[in-house]
Amino acid sequence: MALNYKTITSKLPNVKTTIFTTVNSLAKKHNAINLSQGFPDFEMDKELIYLVEKAMKGNYNQYAPMQGAFVLREIISEKIEALYGKKYHPETEITITIGATQAIFSTITAFIRPNDEVIVFKPAYDCYEPAIEVNGGIPVFVQLKSKDYKIDWDDLKNKISSKTKMIIVNTPHNPSGTILSEMDVLKLQEILKDTNIIVVSDEAYEHIVFDGKEHQSFSKFNDLASRSFICASFGKTFHATGWKMGYCAAPKELMKEFQKTHQFNVFSAHHPTQIALAEYLKNPKNYLGLSNFFQDKRDFFLEGIKESRFKFSPSAGTYFQLLDYSAISNENDIKFSERLISEYKLACIPISVFNTDDIDNKQLRFCFGKKKKTLKKAMDILNRI
Ligand code: GLN
Repeated sequence: MALNYKTITSKLPNVKTTIFTTVNSLAKKHNAINLSQGFPDFEMDKELIYLVEKAMKGNYNQYAPMQGAFVLREIISEKIEALYGKKYHPETEITITIGATQAIFSTITAFIRPNDEVIVFKPAYDCYEPAIEVNGGIPVFVQLKSKDYKIDWDDLKNKISSKTKMIIVNTPHNPSGTILSEMDVLKLQEILKDTNIIVVSDEAYEHIVFDGKEHQSFSKFNDLASRSFICASFGKTFHATGWKMGYCAAPKELMKEFQKTHQFNVFSAHHPTQIALAEYLKNPKNYLGLSNFFQDKRDFFLEGIKESRFKFSPSAGTYFQLLDYSAISNENDIKFSERLISEYKLACIPISVFNTDDIDNKQLRFCFGKKKKTLKKAMDILNRI
């Protein structure tokens, strides 16, 4: 007898197809300019492509070590130490992952048991909650308020309980484009000081911080670092989101547990790409210019729409810009963004999908990590609305 599908009870009953996939297909259908999902529409550096080819021809085509190619872990260790002053041992404290998303998923899976509480700041990138829930954990939300999206420290303190096992923090922040300051991170460190809470620090956009500000990696703060998984993304840094390459760094006692999950989930990431990345990372110019590169795009985009009816505060990091359309329409952000696609042929992401209770602040997220030609087309549309 065939399986009776009616007996299947979903482990994630409320999870729908991710907004990025939904909006992408709608954008395609309407042939819209696509500033929704965060990925560059320009070429990545050919040198890095050449290095992958070289690694493939050089016979790096069998499994990489479970933790990742040692040469890559070594150069990551040196990079973190040079930038943030913290030494992670390449043997025991760094793992190469299939993007930051897998690093986050495997961390949650390694530590979260049924009914453990995990604090998540909202609006939140959409991969956190399902990972918590599929492991039986309970997401506990701290809502960041528009427009500055600052953390309400009292709210955070109130949400911490004896059941709190983990907290997920993201700076630079997707989708709001805000960053945490050193004061913010010190405050968080202080609040967590006497707890046993593990921190997932999603630092996927660490190299995209604007206006001369510095990224506050949690690896810089001793007490926080002792409890944190620093999760990073090569896709964002090297314009190669489709490669799905990232890593995480954590103290060895934590990393040991992480690898128990990681090794039976993916075992190891794409080997030739790791060899190529190790070579490419030897030149810090390959990542240190990224903030200026994207700031130029942000400024171009914002200058071009400053006379439009959209309101904004310039993004402080990531390649996302929020635009407020409250002067234009009362529609909710999902409806308005759908109409932008179908009527105006421009795709973006409504923010309510990332908020607690779908709070709608009439804000949309636009990815400006695109060619100026693409941005110009988007600007022309925004100015017409
Ligand atoms: N990180 C990308 C964004 O926020 C989306 C990646 C994905 O679709 N999974 O746009």
